[in-house]
Amino acid sequence: MTKLMSPYFCCISLLCLHLNSAEFPDLRKHNNCMASHLTPAVYAKLCDRATPNGYTLDQAIQTGVDNPGHPFIKTVGMVAGDEESYEVFAELLNPVIKERHNGYDPTTMKHPTDLDASKIQSGQFDERYVLSSRVRTGRSIRGLSLPPACTRAERREVERVVVDALAGLKADLTGKYYSLTLMTEKEQQQLIDDHFLFDKPVSPLLTCAGMARDWPDARGIWHNNEKTFLVWINEEDHTRVISMEKGGNMKRVFERFCRGLKEVERLIQEKGWEFMWSESLGYILTCPSNLGTGLRAGVHVKLPLLSKDPRFSKILDNLRLQKRGTGGVDTAAVGGTFDISNLDRLGHSEVQLVQTVVDGVNYLIECEKRLERGQDIKVPPPIRQFK
Ligand code: ADP
Ligand code: MG
Repeated sequence: MTKLMSPYFCCISLLCLHLNSAEFPDLRKHNNCMASHLTPAVYAKLCDRATPNGYTLDQAIQTGVDNPGHPFIKTVGMVAGDEESYEVFAELLNPVIKERHNGYDPTTMKHPTDLDASKIQSGQFDERYVLSSRVRTGRSIRGLSLPPACTRAERREVERVVVDALAGLKADLTGKYYSLTLMTEKEQQQLIDDHFLFDKPVSPLLTCAGMARDWPDARGIWHNNEKTFLVWINEEDHTRVISMEKGGNMKRVFERFCRGLKEVERLIQEKGWEFMWSESLGYILTCPSNLGTGLRAGVHVKLPLLSKDPRFSKILDNLRLQKRGTGGVDTAAVGGTFDISNLDRLGHSEVQLVQTVVDGVNYLIECEKRLERGQDIKVPPPIRQFK
């Protein structure tokens, strides 16, 4: 019977493949990780699936279809709508994650977490070069859809749960929530200009992923009185937790980050909620580029000579560092000052990634000093990879 039926089934699946291929996006001019791994066969297999919340493959890849490239970074080209997206669309997401995270294989590897800041060595930068230091991560609330797919009610629930929990922070972490809807345009712009607040979502990377829907409903920023510990609510992730200050004391910034983050998690759990997490992917966030630690540790650093050297990009690559403009991910650098941060998030612990940034940025500053003296610089050998 099976033998007799099999040509029939074969025809049906060929017909499906044909119908689905009529929906296959035109990715011929694209340079993002999704486009590199989405074949017609993978598309045909996944395009009729949906997560329990109803999130589909087409929704997940739309931002990468609409944005073929980015002037400064190779983007991922897809987002998750909920925690389950990473399982339901694993056939596409796993290779994308592997490419983006330096060979990390979610099917065989486990992600480590280490929030013990006392392990950081030489975490004080030369402040003639480093203007400010910052460490951020994201955390998602289990059971609520992520920003590309959440309903208005879910978004407001995230805001309620998180603001409620943050009210329990004490001592130097005591602070207040500032809702975007209640803020004046001037106050908002001032916070953006001072690098405390996310930019308005004009970037097509965000809007095409559905993250700007209903803006500014249920968005806001919580910060302590000194503005050194901040939590963004409902931007690209449910929460972004940030520790920052002027100057080059990365170790102190990371210490406050670890202490604050552990406290936030404890308070969230006390209210009966938990963060999205898995053994292989670490903390689950909207963009696959942020999985694992979700950690971006960075400095604003002056490198006017090194940044003009043709070897600059290669040096950054080999040190597993990324450059951005000081106005954020979509801005170009001005006047030789860059935002330099870790490239990886997954497969290495928070401590390892911050140490990579500390060692790497110290190396860049050494290069800058050598160039000032008219001496030559070396491209360092590439550091560890998973592949
Ligand atoms: P994120 O990865 O946290 O989303 P973005 O590139 O979107 O970072 O930038 C968000 C904001 O954080 C911008 O205003 C940017 O200027 C600020 N920022 C990032 N790194 C630093 C730093 N080391 N010092 C001061 N501000 C920073
Ligand atoms: Mg951002």
